[in-house]
This record gives sequence, structure tokens and C-alpha cells, in this order.
Amino acid sequence: MFEKKLENPSLGKPERKTKTPKVLAVIDQKGCTGCHACIPFCPVDCIEQVPGEDPQAPDFMRVVEVDLDRCIGCRLCAKYCPWETIFMVDKEEAGQSAESWTLRSVLYQGVGKNAAAGGEAPVAAEDQAVEAEAPMPEDKMPEDK
Ligand code: SF4
Ligand code: SF4
Repeated sequence: MFEKKLENPSLGKPERKTKTPKVLAVIDQKGCTGCHACIPFCPVDCIEQVPGEDPQAPDFMRVVEVDLDRCIGCRLCAKYCPWETIFMVDKEEAGQSAESWTLRSVLYQGVGKNAAAGGEAPVAAEDQAVEAEAPMPEDKMPEDK
């Protein structure tokens, strides 16, 4: 069996060619059933699937999130989501809404503020890479035995 790796699916996909639209689509993952009905309606392929909560069964209950950097605000996903859990949010507030409503994220490799048991705000993948490479402070280094 191949090991499934969590990778940022937006890497390598075309950037938005238009100005940032007035409104952007934000998914309230609390209401998302993972039906994926919204995905084929997106003309710019910016709705990404998020692996399920159980690492042993990542394909079960894959909710979705929108890459706000690529969304063109066309509203189609919000119109066709059968569970009415996609909201068009003013561009100035979309980032904050996404942070609050995103329980699991693959774009930012983190989880939203509303995640149960003290989840963290989404962290950009590049920031995370920097964190991972940062040297360990000396007082945290294990002592030689
Ligand atoms: S259509 Fe709605 S409920 Fe279905 S995956 Fe998309 S956001 Fe979630
Ligand atoms: S508003 Fe349009 S571009 Fe943005 S996620 Fe929905 S379908 Fe895609």
C-alpha cells in the first residue's frame, strides 16, 4: 500500500488572473457533508478536498475548502451546494471567516480556530516549512548522557 501524504493541492495550479473579486466563497465545514457536489461547478478548480479526520481512513468524510487566492467569486458553488454551507463573503472578511469556519485544512495544513479541543489557526504551508526547519533552542536540547 502507498502511504498517503498530506500535500498542498494548490501548488502548481494557475493563479487568479483577475482582480480580487468583491466576494469570495467560504465553506462552513460544520455543515459540509463531503458530497463534493460543488467541485464540478467551480470554473477555476479552486475547491479542494480535505482528508477525513481519521488518519486510518483519510478517504472517509472528505470535506472541502476554497482556495481564496484562486476563487473568482462566481457564486456557482454557493448556488449549487445542496446543504447551503457555502457563503459568499466580502473579500475583506473572507480570510477571517475561513479561519473561523475551517475545521480541517489541506491548503494551509492546519485547522481552524473553531476546531474542537483547541485547534490552531491555519498556517501557510511555507510558514510551516520555516517553523519545521528552525533550530531547536539550546535550553530545549536534550542533555548528553
Ligand atoms: S456541495 Fe456543499 S456539502 Fe457538498 S462538499 Fe461542497 S460544500 Fe460540502
Ligand atoms: S465562487 Fe466560483 S470560483 Fe469561487 S469557489 Fe465557488 S465556484 Fe469556485
